[in-house]
Amino acid sequence: MDIHTGVRWLKSEYGERCEHVERDVAAAFAVRGETDSFGPVSRRVVCEACDNAAQVEEEDEVVQCNDCKARHPRRETRTWEAYDFYAPQGDVALVLCHACWAAPKHVARMARDAAEEEAEFGPRKPPIPVLADDRYDVVYPDEDY
Ligand SMILES: [Zn+2]
Ligand SMILES: [Zn+2]
Repeated sequence: MDIHTGVRWLKSEYGERCEHVERDVAAAFAVRGETDSFGPVSRRVVCEACDNAAQVEEEDEVVQCNDCKARHPRRETRTWEAYDFYAPQGDVALVLCHACWAAPKHVARMARDAAEEEAEFGPRKPPIPVLADDRYDVVYPDEDY
């Protein structure tokens, strides 16, 4: 897309811009979507600096661990979704701190989820092992295929 088409597209498609893109639309770097639990609610065109700042802000946002109820910055947590996770149905992804992720409670939860998935869809095919060429020679020395 040439820059003029791009500029027109940015202006027509998205009302929200950071002050830097507002001043010089060529600074447009990314489109950030603001989301709530129902999905994207608004979009904002930002420059690279604002995109990075927003990223940091997201990672610094304090969230509560589902299991230990302690509050952690988002970067110290992971989110987990069950195999049949379906947001429009009201399912909520679990937020877990790294300690709880490795704790027996969550390990059991993941095992149960895998078992339920298997009961519904049958056993998963084992992943095909990918061997580097040199390992290949070690595993199958001098064999003729
Ligand atoms: Zn900016
Ligand atoms: Zn926790």
